[in-house]
Amino acid sequence: TTPNVSEIAKHRTLIIGSTGFIGRFVAEASLHSGHPTYLLVRPGSVVGSSKSTTTIGYLQERGAIVITGSIDDQDSMEKVLKEHKIEVVVSVVGGERILDQLILLEAIKAVGTVKRFLPSEFGHDIDRADPVEPGLTMYNEKRKVRRATEAAGIPYTYICCNSIAGWPYHDNIHPADVLPPLDRFHIYGDGTVKAYFVTGSDIGKFTMKTIGDVRTVNKSVHFRPQCNLLNINQLASLWEKSIGRTLPRLTVTEDDLLSAAKEMIIPQSIVASFTHDIFIKGCQVNYDIENPNDIEVCSLYPETPFQTVEECFKDFATKVVVVNVPKVAEKSKSKDFIVVPNTKPEAL
Ligand code: NDP
Repeated sequence: TTPNVSEIAKHRTLIIGSTGFIGRFVAEASLHSGHPTYLLVRPGSVVGSSKSTTTIGYLQERGAIVITGSIDDQDSMEKVLKEHKIEVVVSVVGGERILDQLILLEAIKAVGTVKRFLPSEFGHDIDRADPVEPGLTMYNEKRKVRRATEAAGIPYTYICCNSIAGWPYHDNIHPADVLPPLDRFHIYGDGTVKAYFVTGSDIGKFTMKTIGDVRTVNKSVHFRPQCNLLNINQLASLWEKSIGRTLPRLTVTEDDLLSAAKEMIIPQSIVASFTHDIFIKGCQVNYDIENPNDIEVCSLYPETPFQTVEECFKDFATKVVVVNVPKVAEKSKSKDFIVVPNTKPEAL
């Protein structure tokens, strides 16, 4: 049987990037699991009234201890790791800061007391997936961090959580910071290539389960919940069901995605290259988990269910405000208009 929260060993955990998109979910899960949770926050994020400040305040209220610093300063990182006797380091820095982790690794190596390091992965198995540029550059950087971690002999876990549940916009500046579409769907290729969709809170929850688990030492943990293995046509149908209306479907071809990637508009072209890798090449499903260093998360924690995309979309649908705009409605012969709130939905 699964031990209850108070019986699970607690680890002094440092989270780097808790103000970020994925990092916040990880930080919340760490606090929820009762681990002493330290947040490394860059000085600029603690002051002022930005979104980061609000997130930090929220996490502090729930017990997080904030440490000001930056991973590109080796001396201060060594000090932080020593002073707070950090046992686990979870890095969730964004795509543009991946190589800064090499400096962090030097600090972890010098201190020698960190029992587990989770580098900023949180996507595909970057040793297997092979996206076109500019996504490839980011993967090459993540690969460098993997090799340096292994060479340093620091116990690690690579989180390969696949796609975050949401609509996989190919032209987004960030994979999932807006609601699924309310006007039309873009279907990639023939829309039949499947991918795994995992909610942000499950990414956090299952990541934190691995940190003290001996079965995940020096392993890549693959998130493959069968309930959330869906192609984009199925994803569209689930959203239609959630909002109670159907939307037109337009095809975005492989060539369209490759051209968007070639434009080298950063970060949109990076997202386009990943979209191509996922929904045309099938990078999440075109290999078996068979190497000794691979493990699937559902086989580790069979008693813990994953939140389904259907539940997640129902949640998103509650953020959609339907209003009656008679004047415009006259013109379009429709009564209801869907208004999308400007703010990022909390569920994301
Ligand atoms: P964000 O850009 O949203 O956040 C990055 C975080 O890192 C911020 O909190 C930022 O802090 C912090 N940070 C950056 N540099 C430093 C530094 N030198 N020292 C300390 N903190 C720093 O990142 P994402 O959440 O988008 O990405 C995190 C990981 O998740 C990446 O590896 C990315 O590839 C992956 N990802 C996966 C997705 C999926 O669908 N599977 C979706 C999105 C990302 P500050 O507040 O100071 O800026």
